[in-house]
Amino acid sequence: MAGVSERPRLQPRRSWLQTTNCGSDSTSPVRLVGNPIHAVALPDATVLAADVVVSCAGEIPHTGWLHGTGLADEHDLGIDEKCTTATPGIYAAGDVTYLRSVGHRAPFRSNAVAQAKIAAASALGLPAQGAPIDDYFWTQILGVAIKIVGPLPLHGPPSHIDGNLTEGSALLTWRHSDGTATIVAYGVRTPLPRLRALAQAPPP
Ligand SMILES: Cc1cc2nc3c(=O)[nH]c(=O)nc-3n(C[C@H](O)[C@H](O)[C@H](O)COP(=O)(O)OP(=O)(O)OC[C@H]3O[C@@H](n4cnc5c(N)ncnc54)[C@H](O)[C@@H]3O)c2cc1C
Repeated sequence: MAGVSERPRLQPRRSWLQTTNCGSDSTSPVRLVGNPIHAVALPDATVLAADVVVSCAGEIPHTGWLHGTGLADEHDLGIDEKCTTATPGIYAAGDVTYLRSVGHRAPFRSNAVAQAKIAAASALGLPAQGAPIDDYFWTQILGVAIKIVGPLPLHGPPSHIDGNLTEGSALLTWRHSDGTATIVAYGVRTPLPRLRALAQAPPP
C-alpha cells in the first residue's frame, strides 16, 4: 500500500479493478493513484486499492482525419435516429458516433449492432427497424457476468434487490425519476428477455 497518499475511506483490497474515464486532471471523475498505479480514487474521495488496475482511459474516437469534412464535430460523429450523419446520404454506426438527440456517445456493443442495422437499412432506402440505442450492456469480469438493461448512469442505491450481493449473485433494480427502470443482473445468469420484461414492468 506504499504510495497511497490519499485514502480517507479505504475499501477492502480487491485483486483487480477495471475503470474508465480515469485521469490525473481535475475534470476526470475517477483518478488513478500511485506510481506504479495500485488504486483508484472516486469523486467522493473513496479510494479502491487493487493488485492490478486496468484503465480504459483514452478511449477516444480517431476522427481528426474527418475534420473539415463537416461529418465530425467536437463530440465526434453525430447521427440522427436513422444513423444519418450531418451529410445527407452518409450514414455511420458504432463507437465513433453519438446520437444528436442524446448528445453523448454510448460505446457499447449492443448499440453498435443496433446502429449498424439501421445504418445499413437507411443506406439501402429501407425502413429502419428498431432504435439506434439499445439500453443493454453486458460484460464479464474475472468470471462474474454482469448484464444491465435500462438507462445509465445509475445513481444511489438500488430500489430492489433479489439475491445477495455479498454472496456475489443478485438482481438489482434502479427506478429513475422519469419512470424508467434499470435492471442489473450481477453474477446471476438471467435471460435477456426476462431482464427487458423486468425493466418494462410497472413499479410494484
Ligand atoms: C477493452 C474493451 C472492452 C470492452 N468490453 C465491452 C463489454 O464488455 N461489453 C460491451 O458491450 N462492449 C464492450 N466494449 C465496447 C465494444 O467493443 C464496442 O462497443 C464495439 O466493438 C464497437 O463496435 P464498432 O464496430 O463501432 O467499433 P470497433 O469494434 O472498434 O471496429 C472499428 C474498426 O474500424 C477500424 N478502423 C478504425 N479506423 C479506421 C480507418 N481510418 N480506416 C479503416 N478502418 C478503420 C478499426 O481497426 C476496427 O477494426 C469494450 C471495448 C474495449 C476497448
